[in-house]
Amino acid sequence: MKIGIVGIGLIGASLGWDFRQMGHHVIGVSRQHSTCTTAEREEICDRASCNLASLQDTEIIFICTPIAAIIPTIEQLIPHLHPDTIITDAGSVKEAIVDRSTELWANFVGGHPMAGNSQSGIAAFEKRLFADRPYVLTPTSKTSPIALERVAELVRSLNSILYYATPEQHDLAVAWISHLPIMVSASLISACLHEADPTILDFAKKFASTGFRDTSRVGGGNPEMGMMMAEYNREAILRSLYQYRDRLDTVIGSIETQAWTEIKDLLSTNQSVRNDFLDSKDV
Ligand code: NAP
Repeated sequence: MKIGIVGIGLIGASLGWDFRQMGHHVIGVSRQHSTCTTAEREEICDRASCNLASLQDTEIIFICTPIAAIIPTIEQLIPHLHPDTIITDAGSVKEAIVDRSTELWANFVGGHPMAGNSQSGIAAFEKRLFADRPYVLTPTSKTSPIALERVAELVRSLNSILYYATPEQHDLAVAWISHLPIMVSASLISACLHEADPTILDFAKKFASTGFRDTSRVGGGNPEMGMMMAEYNREAILRSLYQYRDRLDTVIGSIETQAWTEIKDLLSTNQSVRNDFLDSKDV
């Protein structure tokens, strides 16, 4: 199959490498010549250029740009494409993208590979990044069933765990497990930095170990991506943040009133249900 990739960063390059390994012909588009050279040298793309017209003969195009650039990229692509070409995207937010993209292009299928790392750009690409990770497709009543099945076939071939959800369901769910953790983790780092006593702050930095590393990881990642999640999934993330603030107030209340049993009950419940979030990917 002839596959196009626009935005040869972490996600685009990782997809490109996997698809090439499977024998597909991969054509990449970046805004930078140096990225195109790297993409060809690292065997991420068969050909890469700065020209969207190079994708005119492709069958499926993956838009892997930052969220804000997805719809403008589709608008720029349209004049070059055959109507049968399928467009899908990798954006971490779906409602803001899927409706408009489907209006623009009948063969559009919203997608979100739920894999990544805290780096960005082509240098951060990982081989087999998507294997055993969830990959969500977000069809609506207007999505072409044929286009959906062709994207689904490719997703399965990555050994991803394929899920279907509406764009709204996707955005509410990822607000809980992806976007809220970023804001909570970012607030944790920020709260530590507001320690007024420089000696305590210095000790905290020196004493920080695995617990802090784990809880601060997502809040210390790509700032542009976190900002776009907040901007493009604003309502869902606020819904989760308000509920999180309520839970935090409950914990504060329990500690203030020395209600140790309440704290223990909360932690005991969490200890047993945490795996539901982690193991559910294997279902
Ligand atoms: P990334 O590493 O920054 O790659 C995005 C690439 O898009 C950049 O390398 C850049 O390549 C190109 N680009 C940047 N701004 C652009 C613009 N204004 N117009 C056109 N192209 C532009 O980001 P990523 O992590 O791969 O994320 C790509 C998409 O996947 C995002 O929509 C994100 O929400 C989604 N996603 C990310 C993750 C994750 O964990 N990182 C996971 C799942 C989904 P050039 O400068 O070479 O053009």
